[in-house]
Amino acid sequence: MKFVKDFRDRELAEKLLTAINREADFSRVYRFMEVCGSHTMAVSRFGLRSLLPKNIELVSGPGCPVCVTPQWEIDAIFEIASRDDATIVTFGDMIRVPGSRGESLQKLRADGADIRIVFSPLDTLKIAEETGKNTVFIGIGFETTAPTAAALAKTVKELGRTNVFVAPFCKTVPEVMDVLLADETLEIDGFLCPGHVSVVTGLDIYNAVTAQKRSAVVTGFEPLDILSSVLEMVRQHNRGEYEVKNFYTRAVRNEGNTKAQALLKEVFYQADTDWRGLGRIPKSGLRFRDEYKSVDALAKFGIAETGVTDLKGCKCGDVLKGKMKPSACPMFDNGCTPQNPYGPCMVSSEGSCSAYYKYER
Ligand code: SF4
Ligand code: SF4
Repeated sequence: MKFVKDFRDRELAEKLLTAINREADFSRVYRFMEVCGSHTMAVSRFGLRSLLPKNIELVSGPGCPVCVTPQWEIDAIFEIASRDDATIVTFGDMIRVPGSRGESLQKLRADGADIRIVFSPLDTLKIAEETGKNTVFIGIGFETTAPTAAALAKTVKELGRTNVFVAPFCKTVPEVMDVLLADETLEIDGFLCPGHVSVVTGLDIYNAVTAQKRSAVVTGFEPLDILSSVLEMVRQHNRGEYEVKNFYTRAVRNEGNTKAQALLKEVFYQADTDWRGLGRIPKSGLRFRDEYKSVDALAKFGIAETGVTDLKGCKCGDVLKGKMKPSACPMFDNGCTPQNPYGPCMVSSEGSCSAYYKYER
């Protein structure tokens, strides 16, 4: 198959659904989690949940980097943004995320704060040169985007630039998967592993999942990718044999991107960090090594970690763990909508609440 339409072929999708129905053991429930926000979006968009047998549950996980960013990190960004001598540089998905006082970068920008949206972190260099102000790139993301934040930090050091900083808020996926697996109340049987993250990490990070007799399939974002992965996971459970599988070979090499992995190791170390709704997870955050401290926005602006406090009334925590369907949150479509989001899971296009609002209301 070469083209996107091939991965949406109706006939093949029907064949896969028949195979899944034939394979599924109806005396039990299979509970698989989409780790990645784009999988959640695809599952909702193509209505896959409703096509699967009732005893196969697809639950959404912590796969959107914006959604899992804890409130103190969001508030720290607002604190820097409110300073006259600072420019904030960010990807567009952060612009409407609410702070604990109801503010957002969008509102601060309307009030005169210097906030720029970019597609590439390296654009931060040009902006800093033009303004001469302390310019901070907001490094939020998983292993997918962390290498670009690392590349920016490295370039800043090499060029000897003194007014460009990075807020090191990137997080890593294997550690959160460990936490989810260890929580027996979640009863996760396997993971649809994040396609883009795996492009960087490769497959080995998922060995810990299969070692615990859970399935792990790296997959793409089209219906046939997802349905064939579900079939594989059901088969693995029925056989009681677990092996990490790569069903996204058109993008993911088994060993990942070794250059990006080396860059991450050179610039960052793995530190304990806070996740919205999931608490503090050991070694799941990427912080700057001593050699890169001069680029660290936390050090530059004296920002201390203040721990997890989530927005009152927002159930993002339970949604991110797959404990609650977004539509079960009392605020869903009742004070929280994509047009007027109360919690971050409704803001980001990859957020579970946003996906449910758009496709599964
Ligand atoms: S960055 Fe990629 S892997 Fe991560 S949530 Fe988004 S689409 Fe999924
Ligand atoms: S619907 Fe809104 S308030 Fe409820 S969990 Fe989702 S983002 Fe939070």
